[in-house]
Amino acid sequence: MSEIYDIAVIGAGAAGSMGMLRAVLNNRKTIIFKGSKQTNKRSRALWVRKVVNMPLMFDKKMAITDSVKETFAWIEGHEYFSKKLTSVNDEVKTVIRDEEGIFTLEDSNANKYQAKYVLLATGIMDIQPEIQGSIEPILPYANKGDIDYCIRCDGHKVINKVAATIGHGSTAAWVAVLLCERYSPPEMKIFTNGKAPEWLGDADLSKLVELYKIKVITGEILSIISDEAKNLKAFQIKNAEGESHEEPVQVAFPMLGQIAYNELAKNLGAEISEKGNVKTNEKGESSVSGFYVAGDLREGKKYQIYTAWDMAVDSVDDMDFKLRNSHRRNLLSAVDSVVKG
Ligand SMILES: Cc1cc2nc3c(=O)[nH]c(=O)nc-3n(C[C@H](O)[C@H](O)[C@H](O)COP(=O)(O)OP(=O)(O)OC[C@H]3O[C@@H](n4cnc5c(N)ncnc54)[C@H](O)[C@@H]3O)c2cc1C
Repeated sequence: MSEIYDIAVIGAGAAGSMGMLRAVLNNRKTIIFKGSKQTNKRSRALWVRKVVNMPLMFDKKMAITDSVKETFAWIEGHEYFSKKLTSVNDEVKTVIRDEEGIFTLEDSNANKYQAKYVLLATGIMDIQPEIQGSIEPILPYANKGDIDYCIRCDGHKVINKVAATIGHGSTAAWVAVLLCERYSPPEMKIFTNGKAPEWLGDADLSKLVELYKIKVITGEILSIISDEAKNLKAFQIKNAEGESHEEPVQVAFPMLGQIAYNELAKNLGAEISEKGNVKTNEKGESSVSGFYVAGDLREGKKYQIYTAWDMAVDSVDDMDFKLRNSHRRNLLSAVDSVVKG
């Protein structure tokens, strides 16, 4: 563990890969932890297919994972920059910070690495609706893109489709209203999946749901029905009388909240918001000095690829500024002591 890296990046999704690229191009000794099979499977990065809300992304089948692979390939093929990067195909299990401000990161094989600065880019995950106690039935449709999670990315898919949100909180109702206003789908529904709607106390929201003729279906979702081409066709719903019926739907947005992958930040004592995101200053530095956060996990930002990129660049440039400043101070004080001596 003799080497101390300038910058350690945790996570290799949208924010982590951009942070790594910036750090290497800034000529910093960089280490990146790409995550494990488990962290990849539960990351948003893996679920992003074709992206149409960003220029330059249209040709990618798997927008984030393809562009991350290309980024690694470019660095690894570069004679000079390849020497700047160490990649670890594992997840980080713990991070601690010593009195001098040096971080020690431990992977799942108990290997330890040290760094002066850390960029945490472990992301978040959307909570999936449970169907008869399991999230498995929804996954093939999420994979296919009939179940979507991001209005800014995929909201346009409701055009000419029977559309829905899934959830019982006010977000499910507000998103249904927004989709009606933006795209006027032929039918809009809210599936509360057996739970009582929680927005009824909001008079304006309830009125809008009524005005846009949004159908609220409170029965439990029993199963998902597809057409011959395996496209989403309907939810089988259990009604109050205990009978079931098919409720057509072609595109649906679960709006059930998020799981924030904030354990490493929490364990270091960083300040966390109510939703689980990490609070930072405008450069992304958390309440723990030298420990930065970029991507969906940072509080108060859009959950988008281009935002993740910009956050990562801002954070790494701030680390770079601090590293250069410290180098300058050491240089100047060395010159000073020679002059005085
Ligand atoms: C279905 C879907 C479609 C989307 N479509 C779009 C779109 O069209 N346009 C758009 O701009 N955005 C889109 N988004 C949003 C976009 O995916 C996120 O904003 C973006 O991925 C956030 O980047 P991130 O780096 O914060 O997290 P992620 O990209 O999810 O990356 C997190 C990384 O951290 C790793 N990790 C986790 N824990 C650890 C650990 N302990 N140690 C090491 N590594 C770890 C994971 O393995 C993963 O590699 C979409 C999201 C979803 C779910």
